[in-house]
Amino acid sequence: MLNTHRVALCWFRRDLRLADNPALSHAIQHAEHVIPVYIHAPQEEAPWPPGAASRWWLHHGLHSLNDSLVQLGNRLIIRRGDTLAVLQSLIAETGATLVTWNRLYEPACIARDTAVKKALRESGVEVHSDNSALLFEPWTIHTKQHTPFKVFTPFWKTCRLQLAQQPAPLPAPTHLAAPHPSINSLQLDELALLPTIRWDNGIAQRWQAGESHALQTLQHFIDECVHAYATQRDQPAVSGTSSLSPHLHFGEISPRQILAAINLHHLNDATSQGAEVYIKELGWREFAYHLLYHFPHTTIKPLDVRFEKFPWQKNEHLLKAWQKGVTGIPLVDAGMRELWHTGWMHNRVRMIVASFLCKNLQINWVEGARWFWDTLVDADLASNTLGWQWTAGCGADAAPYFRIFNPVLQAERFDPDAMYIRKWIPELNALPNRWITAPWAAPDKELTRAGIKLGQHYPEPIVDLNASREHALRAYSQLKSETTQ
Ligand code: FAD
Repeated sequence: MLNTHRVALCWFRRDLRLADNPALSHAIQHAEHVIPVYIHAPQEEAPWPPGAASRWWLHHGLHSLNDSLVQLGNRLIIRRGDTLAVLQSLIAETGATLVTWNRLYEPACIARDTAVKKALRESGVEVHSDNSALLFEPWTIHTKQHTPFKVFTPFWKTCRLQLAQQPAPLPAPTHLAAPHPSINSLQLDELALLPTIRWDNGIAQRWQAGESHALQTLQHFIDECVHAYATQRDQPAVSGTSSLSPHLHFGEISPRQILAAINLHHLNDATSQGAEVYIKELGWREFAYHLLYHFPHTTIKPLDVRFEKFPWQKNEHLLKAWQKGVTGIPLVDAGMRELWHTGWMHNRVRMIVASFLCKNLQINWVEGARWFWDTLVDADLASNTLGWQWTAGCGADAAPYFRIFNPVLQAERFDPDAMYIRKWIPELNALPNRWITAPWAAPDKELTRAGIKLGQHYPEPIVDLNASREHALRAYSQLKSETTQ
């Protein structure tokens, strides 16, 4: 008999699932009664409280978690306010002597959780925290010199060797009796997570939050996509990737569950190449957390300090055009419109729109990271920071400064039938493939035949791609030569 506590609080944060949830399993094993709690305290995550699209997901994810708990005979207690004060009040109300949670790795969350842990322990409450979000917690992987990795390949090589030692995912509980029907809980709607002006229709059509949807999405990916992942993952018009990123961010599924399912179905068989490439992508997520943990300042400052001097342009007009998807560069606009309508953007297109912002427009990558933060349903401080710093050329293992994605060539290569551009920019529909990637270069008669007047039906490009590329190359190489003298 493991139980040593009568009541435990299990504090849910970004682990909105019942299966493979170590904090929940620990609470169940060590207490007769478990009270699942969610505390809404966005102010404690400043300067990166959840953005608008994340709040949408959070609302539905909490709703789904509560439904699952109700099926087990329990429910989610929702509170709001200062976390420590709320936990202390719940402890006083319920007589709980154990509090469990799964760890987070964002700088503000680490500081908050450390303070909460210390205060609870000092008051005689037992605290147990666990890893539920990562295959390898950031401090468990290091170079031979015991320093953090800054380059992905050796980082992943080190992780890859240890992958087989991952423990099997924990099963979901089959019942979870509630101790006190009288404990007060806010109604989910009282958190006002959903927008008052309903801009979220496209998001609601594209996504379903919750653990069961995460598992279905994984199963669909394993059955239909993983075998071709290595080739299809770069084509934005094809549903060739797993779409698990928001589920992973909110902890509706764990990387360990994904790894176990993929291993079971695919490793060492004919589809193993796709599976291996896919698992390596999970490795980029691990790398992102490794970097965020060891270099927490990088959410707003370049990891490569030479970039602190970079002459970024401040230009609200260009930034707005980029945000709204009216730059006049079709692949960039298609990506930004996909983001606005669905809360998600294909990875290849994320790299292209980010490169366009930082290099062609020379706008600081932090502006782009902030916009993504507010609009992505999978907005994740670690992965977003890595993605932006990598593209801007100032992060770990970053794209070399002379790598400037050409959105026209990228469209021709990865969207050869222009299906992605046509989907998101229907006003260009009638242009033939040859001209749709760069309508400004189309002969007048082609534009007339397609019923398009540039500047009226679709914008003229806000920058000249070649001239802005040359300008960026000069600025980047100047920075390089100044700092290597
Ligand atoms: P899949 O191709 O199916 O990959 C599986 C999983 O691996 C993803 O769900 C994700 O968790 C992880 N992954 C894949 N690629 C990366 C990567 N490059 N970096 C880190 N993890 C990765 N991803 C986020 O989850 N949140 C973000 O806020 C985010 N911001 C980004 C910003 C920029 C500028 C760029 C270039 C990339 C960003 N990414 C971010 C990474 C990547 O674009 C998404 O993880 C991916 O598109 C999610 O779709 P998927 O689940 O279908 O991916």
